[in-house]
Amino acid sequence: MSVREEFDEWAAAGRDRGMEERHWHTARHVLARMPVEAGDRVLDLGTGSGYALRALADTRDIGHGVGLDGAPKMAHNAREYAAEADTGESTLSFVVGEFGSLPLADDSVDHVFSMEAFYYSADPHETLREIRRVLRSGGTFHCAVNYYEENVHSHDWQEHIDVAMTRWSGPEYRAAFREAGLHVASQDNVPDRETEIPPAEAFPTENWETRAAMVERYREYGTLVTVGVAP
Ligand code: SAH
Repeated sequence: MSVREEFDEWAAAGRDRGMEERHWHTARHVLARMPVEAGDRVLDLGTGSGYALRALADTRDIGHGVGLDGAPKMAHNAREYAAEADTGESTLSFVVGEFGSLPLADDSVDHVFSMEAFYYSADPHETLREIRRVLRSGGTFHCAVNYYEENVHSHDWQEHIDVAMTRWSGPEYRAAFREAGLHVASQDNVPDRETEIPPAEAFPTENWETRAAMVERYREYGTLVTVGVAP
């Protein structure tokens, strides 16, 4: 299935808002770390409902936010949610496009954010080269993923989705960033402290064999965040 088919279905079923709710737990911490200044141009790769740009408009007064998504229905919904929100002086636009060929000029973006989307790239190395190309010198790429090698609890996710996913380890992310010409400024795990974990007697649950496994997934592994900087 193509990205368009798969994620248009998700958007039509309201899963864009569902992801926003779940991903916000850790995404908000990643957004708070971004060295975004008022007036900056920020690109959100695989924007989904567009919540990241709405948050940056609300709290950081960005000049322009570009939310890119391969699924037209995702971009359409994101546009509507942004129109309903008060984005102040910030302009938010939502465009349909592919990670592998960004519809943006060289050196035209101050910072790039991506949550739970990068690993759907048809060719993640090509995506990194594209990010490097559009970033201005000193610009950052904050790449947040829950699907990665060390997170053993994510390994079966590919079985539930028809789009091919790339499962890199932390070191593989760092190596690929460097190969694409980005410096690696940091890499760490942002824990999800909000997903509710039931008391021990509730286990096994529908999704979790043991409480320890669920604690590890959310409180320990959480979201892997790799930060690249354009030289
Ligand atoms: N960032 C959002 C959405 C994550 S879902 C959130 O945190 O909730 C991943 C999104 O990336 C989907 O909306 C999907 O359509 C988009 N996507 C996946 N692969 C893509 C690709 N190769 N090019 C463009 N968009 C892609």
